[in-house]
Amino acid sequence: MKAVRINLYSDTQSQPTPAMREAMASAEVGDEQHRLDPSVNKLCHEVTELLGKEDALFLPSGTMCNQISLAVHCGAGDEIIADQSAHIINYEAGGPAVLSRSLVRALDGDCGVFDAEDVQKAIRSNSYHAPRSRLVVVEQTSNRGGGAVWPLSTLQGVAAVAREHGLNLHMDGARLMNAVVASGVPAADFAATVDSLWLDLSKGLGCPVGAVLAGTHEFIDEAWRWKHRVGGAMRQAGIIAAAGSWALANHVERLADDHSNARQFAKRVSEIPGVQLVSEDVQTNLIFFNVSGSQLSAQDISARLREQGIWIGAIDNERMRAVTHLDISRDDVNEAADRLADVISG
Ligand SMILES: *Cc1c(COP(=O)(O)O)cnc(C)c1O
Repeated sequence: MKAVRINLYSDTQSQPTPAMREAMASAEVGDEQHRLDPSVNKLCHEVTELLGKEDALFLPSGTMCNQISLAVHCGAGDEIIADQSAHIINYEAGGPAVLSRSLVRALDGDCGVFDAEDVQKAIRSNSYHAPRSRLVVVEQTSNRGGGAVWPLSTLQGVAAVAREHGLNLHMDGARLMNAVVASGVPAADFAATVDSLWLDLSKGLGCPVGAVLAGTHEFIDEAWRWKHRVGGAMRQAGIIAAAGSWALANHVERLADDHSNARQFAKRVSEIPGVQLVSEDVQTNLIFFNVSGSQLSAQDISARLREQGIWIGAIDNERMRAVTHLDISRDDVNEAADRLADVISG
């Protein structure tokens, strides 16, 4: 297989920059699980400041942040309310059933975004026959919703209904900083609507590994127990946490470039006969498009692009997803769109 030149498969595909590697190489480190790693402590402090939460916890992945959060919030037989497209439902290997032993009630939101009324309708009555509604999960931005940003007012409405019924609210913030940059809403304002949230360092922020979970002292204390339980407690983890601090200082504002490149790619792709954007409204760095109007399947198109060193994933027979990130330039998206047009026109 030809080496990948233009990697639009995911924002997890970026390489750590030389400057980030330098920050990692010179990081002060200690035993993270004894809370003696200064670089991990620094990163956690930065995230509590950014999000306006009491405490934070460094974890190896966003998936672990989600699963630990669900396990802290929920007990056996509880029910979680989430959009049907949610990462916790589709990409976490059935984690809620295994770790928190909870059910998930899937809502049919608009591009992954549901509202207060949807939540109100999904909350169970107080009956011995029903599971206990316990938690609402929102994804900022919605991945399978095409990178849609949850508007602050929608979140506030959902939070009000959740609070009224004694439910907690958790935010999967894999792309929280994309939402912040796209909307201009401060991260702390989004964070104020939820009880727990995390941001991924290994997506748009460009780190090799890591995510940071935040919430109250009480929540994070209990999350620490789960971190140990599932083997997420580390040792000289400052070497990776330093990449996170570097990214928070240097890779946030530049997300606007990813969004602009995504819009450019979407515009170019929408001009190709046989291709249709799944959502015209490309708000952040994810572009979903449908190729059913062409003679080829999405998988065939993906394979032919790959032969030219361009990687764009097929979601199913008809749909593809492209993702911009810090290793993707304006020229890259233009070239990818040109090659896509060539492949489709045969
Ligand atoms: C990538 C992603 C995750 C999981 O994060 P990892 O760090 O890859 O474990 C969770 N939720 C969403 C919406 C994601 O896109």
